[in-house]
Formats: sequence, C-alpha cells, structure tokens
Amino acid sequence: MKNQAAKIFFIVMLCIVIISGTVAVIKDGGKDKPSKVTESTTLAEESTTQEAKPAVSVNFLSVGDNLIHDGIYEQANRRAGGNGYDFSLCYENIAEKVSAADVATINQETIIAKSYQPSGYPLFNSPHEVGDEIVKVGFDVIAMANNHMIDKGAKGLAEAIEYWDSQPVTRTGAYKNNDDLYKVEYIESNGMKIGLVGVTQYTNGLSLPADSELKIIYSADEDVIKTKIENAKKECDMVLVNVHWGNEYQTTPTDDQRNLAKKMANWGADVIIGHHPHVIQPVEFITRDDGTKVLVAFSLGNFISQQNTPARVVGGMLTYTVTKNYDTNTLEISNVVFNPTVTHYVRGVDDVRVYLLSQYNDTLAAKQASRLSQSNFSVSYINDFVSGIIDPQFLNK
Ligand SMILES: [Zn+2]
Repeated sequence: MKNQAAKIFFIVMLCIVIISGTVAVIKDGGKDKPSKVTESTTLAEESTTQEAKPAVSVNFLSVGDNLIHDGIYEQANRRAGGNGYDFSLCYENIAEKVSAADVATINQETIIAKSYQPSGYPLFNSPHEVGDEIVKVGFDVIAMANNHMIDKGAKGLAEAIEYWDSQPVTRTGAYKNNDDLYKVEYIESNGMKIGLVGVTQYTNGLSLPADSELKIIYSADEDVIKTKIENAKKECDMVLVNVHWGNEYQTTPTDDQRNLAKKMANWGADVIIGHHPHVIQPVEFITRDDGTKVLVAFSLGNFISQQNTPARVVGGMLTYTVTKNYDTNTLEISNVVFNPTVTHYVRGVDDVRVYLLSQYNDTLAAKQASRLSQSNFSVSYINDFVSGIIDPQFLNK
C-alpha cells in the first residue's frame, strides 16, 4: 500500500511537470515574450491566437453575356438529334478554366422560363439545357439583372428564378419579393463569405405589373443599391456587384457608369463586374475616397452570341484573386488577368462555340471572316483590338 501511494504521488508529480512543461512550450512557441508572463495574460493571448483567422484567398473568374440567339439553340437541338438540346460544344473549350476557379460568375442574358417556347431576339427565352450546361461547366453565380429579364413578363421571370434556385448555383439580381430583395445574398468559398448584388440599368422599356411581388434593382435605385451593398459589407468579407449598364457597342464607359462605379465603391463594393454593351470596355482599379482600391470591369462583352461584327465576337474572361487578411481586416485584389475570348461561328455550320484567344488561330478566324465582313479578321487583329481597350497590365503577354 505504501508503495502504491508513493507511485500515485510520483505519477501526479510527473503529470504536473509535463503539464507545466507543455504550457511553457505553448508560451515560448506562441509568442516571443519575456518568460515572466502572468497566467491571465497567457490565457488572453491564447484566446486571441485562437480567434485570429489565417488570411484566405479566393480565385474568381467572370464573363459577360451568355446571349442565346435562336441559331444557338437550334444548333444544340440538331446536335441532340432533334430531341432536346446539347449545348456542350458551345462551352467545352473553356470548361476546364471555368471549373478551375473557386467562384465563376456569368451574366445569363436570356431567361429560362420552362412554360414558354424557346425564342430568339428580341424577346428571348432559352431552353433549360443551356442553364444545365452552364452549371455543369462550373459557373457558381448567375447574374439575372439585365435588359432581357422580363422578356416573358413577370411569369417568365418567376420561372427563371425558380429554375436557378433548383440548381446548385447562387442567383443575383432578380428577387422573389421584398424580403428576398433585402436578404443578404452571398456565396461562400474557402471560408470567405462573398456578398452579391445584381443591378440593371434597363429592362427594354418593359416593367413588372404593379401587383407583382417580384423585385428588380435598377441603376437609378441608388438608395436600394446603397442599402444592399452596405448590408452585404456588414455580414460578408467582400462584396461583388454585377451590373448591366452602359451603351451598346461602345467600348468606352459612359459618365453614368463611372459615377455609379465610384458610388458603389464608396458604399463598399470591392469588385464590380459590368456587362451589356456587347463589346468589351476597360478594366480598372478605381480609388475609394479612403484611398483603397476597387476592381471594375466596365464590360466583359459577349461570352457567346450570334452577333456579327468583329468587336461583338470578342469577349473577356476576367480572372482575379481576392485575399482577405483577417488580422488587418483588409482585402487585396491580385493576379487580375483579362483573358480574351472569341465566339466562333461559321455560317451554315453547327459550330458556334467559345474559344479562349490563346486557343484560337488564323485558320479559324479566316473561316468566320466573311460572316463578320472583316477580311483581315485574325489573331493579330483581335490582339490589336483588345490592346486598344484593355490596359497592358491586365493582359497576359
Ligand atoms: Zn444586355
């Protein structure tokens, strides 16, 4: 018995030595501090250490208008043998790059309303198979705010919202009702909470009926935009705005675009992705009043379409990294690259699809030159066009 008691005493003492040793190791390993540290200070430091979150980075990818003209879904229907639609050819060249991004965003220019027949310009409706393909390719955020969102009225928009809500993506820019409008929209990636807001300048002269509960944020609704951005900023690590604005076919942003970009930046937007002009416009870092930087792509042009000028077949796939530093509560936007894309389509051939310019070549360009009425349409023509608009710092050499 005496031996047993001695043994227990020895074990207890050993434990105390080990525990205090461990504490010492934590102290020494945790911080380079004097060895005389009171217990309360140590605990405070340890709890601070536990709360501190390591910096997180998210790799984004954004594209412009997924504009499904009738010819695009007619081709997809023929590829499916007349039964359903096969859009895989349209996006297969860029699928790998899209799926590699942590968060990929797209403006779905045409609604997907199941109870209506597919239709082209001017009142679009697209088969759900194109949405299914966009999801399969890896897009995560679907911007619905654009001038075609009420092409099939309130019913069509409600069906489009329902369709996207049934998919593993996050919609932005179309809202079921007032509660939905003011709910903070966000997507999470790598532990970063990314607030979303979707705005459009126009709906082609169409408007929702007065008794509709659906909500749209117009660029003129600055109070709503401000509230949305500020609320998202409070709850999220960053705010990404999709905005459908500007003048069609103009490669220069309007004063209205610039003014709204500056306001949204000061309200708390960190990244502003623009679309609608069907041609590309500059990418810029603009400066908030407090000196911090906001990334703005004024227009990423068409992602896919059957439009028929050289400028309208060139789009932009913007890739960028956002890093949140939780210690300093700051964001850093880096690795901003404008990857030019080309919609390739030869008249009479069922081949409409998107290429990265890096995948495109002069043989392909020559094939669609006659359709575009541009006999010298070529890779160098596209490079010259892009470098006339996009700052070289955002172009891969
Ligand atoms: Zn548009």
